[in-house]
Amino acid sequence: MKKLLSLENLTLLAIIAGIAFGLYFKDAAVELKFIGDVYISLLKMLIIPIVVASIYVAITGLNDTDELKSIGIKAFVYYLTTTALAVLLGLIVFNIFNPGSGAVSALTVDTPPVEPKELSFSDFILSFIPQNIFKALSEGAILPIIFFTILFAIASLYIQKSKKEFLYTYFDSINDAFMVIAKWVINLTPIGVFFLIAYTVGKNGLEPIFNLYSYVLTVLAALFTHALVTLPLIAYLVGRFNPYEYFLKIKEAVIVAFSTASSSATLPVSIEVAETKGGVDKKVAGFVLPLGATINMDGTALYESIAVMYIANLAGVDLSLSQQIIIFITATFASIGAAGIPGAGLIMMTLILDSVGLPVEYIALIITVDRFLDMFRTAINVWGDLLGAKIIDRLVFRR
Ligand code: ASP
Repeated sequence: MKKLLSLENLTLLAIIAGIAFGLYFKDAAVELKFIGDVYISLLKMLIIPIVVASIYVAITGLNDTDELKSIGIKAFVYYLTTTALAVLLGLIVFNIFNPGSGAVSALTVDTPPVEPKELSFSDFILSFIPQNIFKALSEGAILPIIFFTILFAIASLYIQKSKKEFLYTYFDSINDAFMVIAKWVINLTPIGVFFLIAYTVGKNGLEPIFNLYSYVLTVLAALFTHALVTLPLIAYLVGRFNPYEYFLKIKEAVIVAFSTASSSATLPVSIEVAETKGGVDKKVAGFVLPLGATINMDGTALYESIAVMYIANLAGVDLSLSQQIIIFITATFASIGAAGIPGAGLIMMTLILDSVGLPVEYIALIITVDRFLDMFRTAINVWGDLLGAKIIDRLVFRR
Protein backbone atom coordinates (compact mmCIF):
# COMPACT_ATOMS: atom_id res chain seq x y z
CA MET A 1 0.00 0.00 0.00
CA LYS A 2 2.81 2.33 0.98
CA LYS A 3 4.54 1.60 -2.31
CA LEU A 4 1.33 2.21 -4.20
CA LEU A 5 1.04 5.62 -2.61
CA SER A 6 4.66 6.57 -3.33
CA LEU A 7 5.39 10.13 -4.34
CA GLU A 8 6.05 9.06 -7.93
CA ASN A 9 2.72 7.28 -8.26
CA LEU A 10 0.85 10.14 -6.64
CA THR A 11 2.54 12.54 -9.05
CA LEU A 12 1.57 10.45 -12.07
CA LEU A 13 -1.98 10.37 -10.75
CA ALA A 14 -1.83 14.14 -10.33
CA ILE A 15 -0.95 14.54 -14.02
CA ILE A 16 -3.99 12.53 -15.13
CA ALA A 17 -6.29 14.22 -12.62
CA GLY A 18 -4.88 17.62 -13.63
CA ILE A 19 -5.67 16.99 -17.32
CA ALA A 20 -9.24 15.96 -16.45
CA PHE A 21 -9.72 18.92 -14.12
CA GLY A 22 -8.35 21.35 -16.73
CA LEU A 23 -10.66 19.96 -19.40
CA TYR A 24 -13.85 20.03 -17.35
CA PHE A 25 -13.28 22.99 -15.03
CA LYS A 26 -11.42 25.43 -17.27
CA ASP A 27 -12.16 28.58 -15.26
CA ALA A 28 -11.36 27.05 -11.91
CA ALA A 29 -8.13 25.60 -13.33
CA VAL A 30 -7.05 29.04 -14.58
CA GLU A 31 -8.15 30.70 -11.35
CA LEU A 32 -6.19 28.25 -9.20
CA LYS A 33 -2.99 28.67 -11.18
CA PHE A 34 -1.39 30.45 -8.23
CA ILE A 35 -1.15 27.17 -6.29
CA GLY A 36 1.09 25.77 -9.04
CA ASP A 37 3.00 29.05 -8.98
CA VAL A 38 3.60 28.67 -5.24
CA TYR A 39 5.21 25.29 -5.91
CA ILE A 40 7.41 26.67 -8.71
CA SER A 41 8.41 29.66 -6.58
CA LEU A 42 9.44 27.36 -3.73
CA LEU A 43 11.67 25.43 -6.14
CA LYS A 44 13.08 28.59 -7.68
CA MET A 45 13.85 29.98 -4.24
CA LEU A 46 16.33 27.13 -3.83
CA ILE A 47 18.07 27.36 -7.20
CA ILE A 48 20.77 29.98 -6.56
CA PRO A 49 21.92 28.77 -3.12
CA ILE A 50 21.93 25.15 -4.28
CA VAL A 51 23.79 25.94 -7.51
CA VAL A 52 26.48 27.89 -5.65
CA ALA A 53 26.84 25.50 -2.72
CA SER A 54 26.71 22.29 -4.75
CA ILE A 55 29.21 23.42 -7.38
CA TYR A 56 31.53 24.75 -4.68
CA VAL A 57 31.34 21.56 -2.61
CA ALA A 58 31.69 19.38 -5.70
CA ILE A 59 34.89 21.06 -6.82
CA THR A 60 36.56 21.58 -3.44
CA GLY A 61 35.68 18.02 -2.47
CA LEU A 62 37.80 16.67 -5.33
CA ASN A 63 41.28 15.44 -4.67
CA ASP A 64 42.96 17.73 -7.15
CA THR A 65 42.45 19.84 -10.25
CA ASP A 66 43.16 16.79 -12.43
CA GLU A 67 39.98 15.18 -11.19
CA LEU A 68 38.09 18.37 -11.99
CA LYS A 69 39.62 18.45 -15.46
CA SER A 70 38.57 14.87 -16.01
CA ILE A 71 34.94 15.51 -14.96
CA GLY A 72 34.81 18.83 -16.81
CA ILE A 73 36.09 17.45 -20.10
CA LYS A 74 33.81 14.43 -19.94
CA ALA A 75 30.81 16.63 -19.18
CA PHE A 76 31.66 18.98 -22.03
CA VAL A 77 32.08 16.14 -24.54
CA TYR A 78 28.83 14.51 -23.36
CA TYR A 79 26.83 17.75 -23.58
CA LEU A 80 28.05 18.62 -27.04
CA THR A 81 27.80 15.14 -28.57
CA THR A 82 24.32 14.41 -27.26
CA THR A 83 23.02 17.83 -28.28
CA ALA A 84 24.44 17.47 -31.78
CA LEU A 85 22.97 13.96 -32.05
CA ALA A 86 19.60 15.33 -30.95
CA VAL A 87 19.58 18.00 -33.66
CA LEU A 88 20.67 15.48 -36.25
CA LEU A 89 17.89 13.14 -35.20
CA GLY A 90 15.43 16.03 -35.39
CA LEU A 91 16.48 16.76 -38.96
CA ILE A 92 16.32 13.10 -39.99
CA VAL A 93 12.89 12.49 -38.44
CA PHE A 94 11.65 15.70 -40.01
CA ASN A 95 12.83 14.66 -43.46
CA ILE A 96 11.05 11.32 -43.03
CA PHE A 97 7.66 12.71 -41.94
CA ASN A 98 7.93 16.04 -43.69
CA PRO A 99 4.97 17.66 -41.90
CA GLY A 100 3.44 20.81 -43.37
CA SER A 101 4.81 20.15 -46.86
CA GLY A 102 2.65 21.28 -49.71
CA ALA A 103 1.12 24.00 -47.55
CA VAL A 104 0.08 27.20 -49.20
CA SER A 105 3.02 29.49 -49.57
CA ALA A 106 3.21 33.15 -48.59
CA LEU A 107 1.31 32.77 -45.35
CA THR A 108 0.22 35.93 -43.70
CA VAL A 109 0.56 36.07 -39.99
CA ASP A 110 -1.38 38.49 -37.88
CA THR A 111 1.13 39.45 -35.27
CA PRO A 112 3.27 42.46 -34.52
CA PRO A 113 6.81 42.17 -35.88
CA VAL A 114 9.12 40.11 -33.69
CA GLU A 115 12.71 41.22 -33.21
CA PRO A 116 15.15 38.38 -33.92
CA LYS A 117 17.36 37.54 -30.99
CA GLU A 118 20.93 38.59 -31.66
CA LEU A 119 23.75 36.51 -30.28
CA SER A 120 27.21 37.45 -31.44
CA PHE A 121 30.22 35.42 -30.36
CA SER A 122 31.54 38.29 -28.22
CA ASP A 123 28.17 38.68 -26.45
CA PHE A 124 28.14 34.95 -25.86
CA ILE A 125 31.54 35.02 -24.18
CA LEU A 126 30.80 38.20 -22.23
CA SER A 127 27.53 36.74 -20.95
CA PHE A 128 29.55 34.31 -18.83
CA ILE A 129 31.42 36.96 -16.85
CA PRO A 130 29.60 38.79 -14.09
CA GLN A 131 30.76 42.39 -13.73
CA ASN A 132 29.12 42.44 -10.34
CA ILE A 133 28.57 39.09 -8.68
CA PHE A 134 25.92 40.47 -6.30
CA LYS A 135 23.94 41.86 -9.21
CA ALA A 136 24.18 38.49 -10.96
CA LEU A 137 23.03 36.75 -7.77
CA SER A 138 20.10 39.08 -7.26
CA GLU A 139 19.04 38.78 -10.89
CA GLY A 140 19.45 35.01 -10.89
CA ALA A 141 21.81 35.14 -13.90
CA ILE A 142 22.81 31.49 -13.75
CA LEU A 143 25.70 31.29 -16.25
CA PRO A 144 27.76 34.11 -14.71
CA ILE A 145 27.04 32.71 -11.24
CA ILE A 146 28.30 29.28 -12.32
CA PHE A 147 31.39 30.79 -13.91
CA PHE A 148 32.19 32.77 -10.74
CA THR A 149 31.56 29.80 -8.44
CA ILE A 150 33.82 27.52 -10.50
CA LEU A 151 36.62 30.11 -10.34
CA PHE A 152 36.09 30.66 -6.61
CA ALA A 153 36.12 26.91 -5.94
CA ILE A 154 39.25 26.30 -8.02
CA ALA A 155 40.98 29.18 -6.24
CA SER A 156 40.06 27.60 -2.91
CA LEU A 157 42.03 24.50 -3.88
CA TYR A 158 45.15 26.65 -3.76
CA ILE A 159 44.71 28.25 -0.32
CA GLN A 160 45.86 26.99 3.09
CA LYS A 161 44.42 23.55 3.80
CA SER A 162 42.71 24.55 7.07
CA LYS A 163 41.08 27.55 5.40
CA LYS A 164 39.92 25.45 2.48
CA GLU A 165 38.43 22.95 4.89
CA PHE A 166 36.64 25.73 6.71
CA LEU A 167 35.07 26.99 3.47
CA TYR A 168 34.20 23.44 2.42
CA THR A 169 32.39 22.75 5.70
CA TYR A 170 30.63 26.09 5.48
CA PHE A 171 29.25 25.53 1.98
CA ASP A 172 28.60 21.86 2.63
CA SER A 173 26.43 22.81 5.62
CA ILE A 174 24.52 25.35 3.54
CA ASN A 175 24.06 22.71 0.88
CA ASP A 176 22.76 20.15 3.35
CA ALA A 177 20.28 22.58 4.87
CA PHE A 178 18.94 23.58 1.48
CA MET A 179 18.63 19.98 0.42
CA VAL A 180 16.44 19.43 3.48
CA ILE A 181 14.17 22.25 2.29
CA ALA A 182 14.29 20.70 -1.20
CA LYS A 183 12.98 17.44 0.26
CA TRP A 184 10.10 19.27 1.91
CA VAL A 185 9.21 20.99 -1.35
CA ILE A 186 9.50 17.72 -3.27
CA ASN A 187 6.81 16.28 -1.01
CA LEU A 188 4.46 18.92 -2.41
CA THR A 189 5.09 17.77 -5.98
CA PRO A 190 1.73 16.02 -6.57
CA ILE A 191 -0.18 19.15 -5.52
CA GLY A 192 2.01 21.47 -7.58
CA VAL A 193 1.87 19.21 -10.62
CA PHE A 194 -1.90 18.88 -10.44
CA PHE A 195 -2.47 22.64 -10.56
CA LEU A 196 0.23 23.29 -13.17
CA ILE A 197 -1.15 20.71 -15.59
CA ALA A 198 -4.77 21.73 -14.93
CA TYR A 199 -3.87 25.33 -15.74
CA THR A 200 -2.04 24.47 -18.96
CA VAL A 201 -4.91 22.28 -20.19
CA GLY A 202 -7.58 24.71 -18.94
CA LYS A 203 -5.98 27.67 -20.66
CA ASN A 204 -5.04 26.16 -24.02
CA GLY A 205 -7.43 23.23 -24.33
CA LEU A 206 -6.41 20.35 -26.54
CA GLU A 207 -7.60 21.78 -29.88
CA PRO A 208 -4.29 23.37 -30.95
CA ILE A 209 -2.64 19.97 -30.54
CA PHE A 210 -5.17 18.37 -32.91
CA ASN A 211 -4.88 21.24 -35.38
CA LEU A 212 -1.12 20.88 -35.65
CA TYR A 213 -1.06 17.13 -35.16
CA SER A 214 1.46 16.26 -37.90
CA TYR A 215 3.96 18.73 -36.45
CA VAL A 216 3.29 17.67 -32.86
CA LEU A 217 3.68 13.99 -33.73
CA THR A 218 6.94 14.59 -35.58
CA VAL A 219 8.41 16.45 -32.59
CA LEU A 220 7.22 13.77 -30.16
CA ALA A 221 8.51 10.91 -32.34
CA ALA A 222 11.96 12.48 -32.47
CA LEU A 223 12.00 13.37 -28.76
CA PHE A 224 10.99 9.85 -27.73
CA THR A 225 13.54 8.27 -30.06
CA HIS A 226 16.25 10.40 -28.51
CA ALA A 227 15.08 9.63 -24.96
CA LEU A 228 14.45 5.93 -25.40
CA VAL A 229 17.08 4.91 -27.97
CA THR A 230 19.95 7.36 -28.51
CA LEU A 231 20.61 8.40 -24.91
CA PRO A 232 20.10 4.92 -23.40
CA LEU A 233 22.45 3.48 -26.02
CA ILE A 234 25.17 5.92 -24.97
CA ALA A 235 24.50 5.08 -21.32
CA TYR A 236 24.74 1.40 -22.06
CA LEU A 237 27.81 1.53 -24.29
CA VAL A 238 29.81 4.21 -22.47
CA GLY A 239 28.51 4.05 -18.91
CA ARG A 240 27.85 0.30 -18.92
CA PHE A 241 24.65 0.45 -16.87
CA ASN A 242 20.99 -0.22 -17.49
CA PRO A 243 19.45 3.19 -18.31
CA TYR A 244 15.87 2.01 -17.89
CA GLU A 245 16.49 0.78 -14.36
CA TYR A 246 18.17 4.08 -13.62
CA PHE A 247 15.16 5.92 -15.04
CA LEU A 248 12.86 4.20 -12.58
CA LYS A 249 15.01 5.50 -9.75
CA ILE A 250 15.18 9.11 -10.85
CA LYS A 251 11.84 9.50 -12.65
CA GLU A 252 10.55 11.98 -10.08
CA ALA A 253 12.84 14.65 -11.55
CA VAL A 254 11.68 13.93 -15.10
CA ILE A 255 8.04 14.24 -14.02
CA VAL A 256 8.74 17.55 -12.29
CA ALA A 257 10.53 18.77 -15.44
CA PHE A 258 7.51 17.78 -17.51
CA SER A 259 5.10 19.60 -15.22
CA THR A 260 7.09 22.78 -14.65
CA ALA A 261 8.63 23.06 -18.15
CA SER A 262 11.74 24.42 -16.45
CA SER A 263 15.08 22.64 -16.12
CA SER A 264 16.25 25.24 -13.60
CA ALA A 265 13.23 24.88 -11.34
CA THR A 266 13.73 21.10 -11.48
CA LEU A 267 17.38 21.34 -10.42
CA PRO A 268 16.85 20.89 -6.65
CA VAL A 269 14.85 17.74 -7.39
CA SER A 270 17.40 16.44 -9.92
CA ILE A 271 20.28 16.78 -7.47
CA GLU A 272 18.30 15.18 -4.67
CA VAL A 273 17.18 12.11 -6.61
CA ALA A 274 20.51 11.65 -8.41
CA GLU A 275 22.37 11.51 -5.09
CA THR A 276 19.91 9.65 -2.91
CA LYS A 277 18.28 7.25 -5.39
CA GLY A 278 20.44 7.27 -8.52
CA GLY A 279 23.69 6.55 -6.69
CA VAL A 280 25.54 9.47 -8.29
CA ASP A 281 28.43 10.82 -6.24
CA LYS A 282 27.86 14.25 -4.70
CA LYS A 283 30.97 15.61 -6.43
CA VAL A 284 29.68 14.63 -9.86
CA ALA A 285 26.01 15.51 -9.31
CA GLY A 286 26.90 18.87 -7.77
CA PHE A 287 28.95 19.88 -10.78
CA VAL A 288 27.36 18.13 -13.77
CA LEU A 289 23.69 18.77 -12.96
CA PRO A 290 23.69 22.56 -12.40
CA LEU A 291 25.84 23.02 -15.49
CA GLY A 292 23.68 20.60 -17.48
CA ALA A 293 20.43 22.29 -16.45
CA THR A 294 21.82 25.50 -17.87
CA ILE A 295 23.60 24.48 -21.04
CA ASN A 296 22.70 20.89 -21.93
CA MET A 297 19.32 20.91 -23.65
CA ASP A 298 18.92 18.06 -26.10
CA GLY A 299 15.14 18.34 -26.20
CA THR A 300 15.26 22.05 -26.92
CA ALA A 301 17.88 21.68 -29.65
CA LEU A 302 15.95 18.90 -31.36
CA TYR A 303 12.69 20.79 -31.07
CA GLU A 304 14.15 23.95 -32.54
CA SER A 305 15.51 22.20 -35.60
CA ILE A 306 12.14 20.59 -36.36
CA ALA A 307 10.19 23.78 -35.69
CA VAL A 308 12.32 25.80 -38.09
CA MET A 309 12.01 23.19 -40.83
CA TYR A 310 8.27 23.04 -40.29
CA ILE A 311 7.94 26.81 -40.52
CA ALA A 312 9.95 26.71 -43.76
CA ASN A 313 7.53 24.13 -45.14
CA LEU A 314 4.51 26.23 -44.17
CA ALA A 315 6.09 29.24 -45.81
CA GLY A 316 6.73 27.20 -48.94
CA VAL A 317 10.49 27.67 -48.64
CA ASP A 318 12.66 24.74 -49.69
CA LEU A 319 15.69 24.63 -47.44
CA SER A 320 18.92 23.61 -49.13
CA LEU A 321 21.41 21.22 -47.55
CA SER A 322 23.69 24.10 -46.61
CA GLN A 323 20.79 25.82 -44.88
CA GLN A 324 20.07 22.62 -42.99
CA ILE A 325 23.70 22.57 -41.88
CA ILE A 326 23.30 26.14 -40.64
CA ILE A 327 20.23 24.99 -38.70
CA PHE A 328 22.27 22.12 -37.26
CA ILE A 329 24.95 24.47 -35.97
CA THR A 330 22.73 27.31 -34.77
CA ALA A 331 20.23 24.96 -33.06
CA THR A 332 23.08 23.35 -31.13
CA PHE A 333 24.38 26.70 -29.89
CA ALA A 334 20.95 28.28 -29.42
CA SER A 335 20.07 25.46 -27.02
CA ILE A 336 23.23 26.15 -25.04
CA GLY A 337 22.24 29.80 -24.81
CA ALA A 338 18.61 29.05 -23.86
CA ALA A 339 17.73 29.54 -20.22
CA GLY A 340 16.18 26.67 -18.28
CA ILE A 341 12.80 28.38 -18.06
CA PRO A 342 9.47 27.83 -19.82
CA GLY A 343 9.38 29.06 -23.41
CA ALA A 344 13.10 29.87 -23.58
CA GLY A 345 13.54 27.62 -26.60
CA LEU A 346 10.95 29.56 -28.52
CA ILE A 347 12.78 32.84 -27.95
CA MET A 348 16.08 31.36 -29.10
CA MET A 349 14.38 30.05 -32.21
CA THR A 350 14.17 33.55 -33.64
CA LEU A 351 17.93 33.33 -33.94
CA ILE A 352 17.78 30.22 -36.10
CA LEU A 353 14.94 31.51 -38.28
CA ASP A 354 16.91 34.65 -38.88
CA SER A 355 20.06 32.70 -39.75
CA VAL A 356 18.32 30.96 -42.65
CA GLY A 357 16.41 34.04 -43.76
CA LEU A 358 12.94 33.03 -42.58
CA PRO A 359 10.65 35.70 -41.14
CA VAL A 360 10.64 35.45 -37.35
CA GLU A 361 6.94 36.40 -37.24
CA TYR A 362 6.16 32.87 -38.43
CA ILE A 363 6.78 31.71 -34.89
CA ALA A 364 3.15 32.65 -34.32
CA LEU A 365 2.17 29.59 -36.35
CA ILE A 366 3.42 27.17 -33.72
CA ILE A 367 3.06 29.22 -30.57
CA THR A 368 -0.24 27.58 -29.61
CA VAL A 369 1.41 24.22 -29.01
CA ASP A 370 4.65 25.54 -27.60
CA ARG A 371 3.81 25.05 -23.93
CA PHE A 372 2.64 21.52 -24.58
CA LEU A 373 5.84 20.60 -26.45
CA ASP A 374 7.92 22.54 -23.91
CA MET A 375 6.84 20.05 -21.25
CA PHE A 376 8.17 17.15 -23.29
CA ARG A 377 11.39 18.83 -24.37
CA THR A 378 12.16 19.92 -20.81
CA ALA A 379 11.61 16.36 -19.59
CA ILE A 380 14.14 15.20 -22.21
CA ASN A 381 16.55 17.99 -21.25
CA VAL A 382 16.52 16.84 -17.64
CA TRP A 383 16.67 13.14 -18.55
CA GLY A 384 19.78 13.93 -20.62
CA ASP A 385 21.38 15.74 -17.67
CA LEU A 386 20.66 12.90 -15.27
CA LEU A 387 21.97 10.24 -17.63
CA GLY A 388 25.08 12.36 -18.19
CA ALA A 389 25.66 12.60 -14.44
CA LYS A 390 25.45 8.83 -14.07
CA ILE A 391 27.68 8.12 -17.08
CA ILE A 392 30.34 10.53 -15.84
CA ASP A 393 30.07 9.11 -12.32
CA ARG A 394 30.74 5.63 -13.71
CA LEU A 395 33.62 6.80 -15.86
CA VAL A 396 35.33 8.86 -13.16
CA PHE A 397 34.87 6.53 -10.23
CA ARG A 398 34.89 3.31 -12.30
CA ARG A 399 31.84 1.97 -10.48
N1 ASP B 1 11.78 24.99 -20.97
C1 ASP B 1 13.02 24.44 -21.38
C2 ASP B 1 13.86 24.10 -20.16
O1 ASP B 1 13.73 24.72 -19.14
C3 ASP B 1 13.76 25.35 -22.32
C4 ASP B 1 12.96 25.48 -23.58
O2 ASP B 1 12.10 26.35 -23.68
O3 ASP B 1 13.15 24.66 -24.48
O4 ASP B 1 14.66 23.22 -20.19
